[in-house]
Amino acid sequence: MGEVLTLELEQKAAAVREQLAAAVREYGRVVYANSLGAEAMVLTDIIWSHVPEIDMFSIDTGRLHEETYELLEKLQRRYKRKLRVVYPEAQALESLVSAQGVNGFYQSLEARVACCHARKVEPFKRAITGYAAWVTGVRRQQSAARAQAQPVEWDASYGLHKVSPLFDWSEEQIWQYIRARKLPYNSLHDRQFPSIGCMPCTRAIQPGESRRAGRWWWEQPESRECGLHPRVRHAAAQA
Ligand code: SF4
Repeated sequence: MGEVLTLELEQKAAAVREQLAAAVREYGRVVYANSLGAEAMVLTDIIWSHVPEIDMFSIDTGRLHEETYELLEKLQRRYKRKLRVVYPEAQALESLVSAQGVNGFYQSLEARVACCHARKVEPFKRAITGYAAWVTGVRRQQSAARAQAQPVEWDASYGLHKVSPLFDWSEEQIWQYIRARKLPYNSLHDRQFPSIGCMPCTRAIQPGESRRAGRWWWEQPESRECGLHPRVRHAAAQA
């Protein structure tokens, strides 16, 4: 017999629906920046099933895993919806690669941040233009840095509200919801990739490592953010 949603999880999912609906009432234009991670499967399910007024996009940095593209296709088939995919500016990418090479992001924190800026932050800024609030799958437990965030906060970096309705969910609750609702998910999660980003900057973690240890593993833990959650970024990344 398959797993079913516990009463506690039903209630948590209902609270997410209510928080998202309240965000639409409060802010009007709301957009979800879909990371295609495990949390994103829960939010995609709730938004596309219950709060379709919220727009949704995902950023294709051009360096994603093939498994991530397969997941994108599966999501669109399941919900019979098109997920808007946002790309980096071609000219910005050409300039970046010209300056640092195709894999220059391994050379220094500055080079990595420049790559994340061209491939993620700039497309993100473009995609949220005109919205009053954006939704994220950030959870308190994801890292020490993210624990400093708030479920709803003013995002001064981008000039709009930031809503994190899964803030108090545990990782196990995310997976209980995915299993009970038989949601698609990135097959890399079954191969010790709890947090998935670009292919060259993500690797499997070892037993006992933190869930974000496989992201930019060559850097210090405090710098391991992509720039979309700048309040918790390493000082050197804030240029
Ligand atoms: S995660 Fe790596 S490849 Fe992707 S944008 Fe950042 S530095 Fe570039």
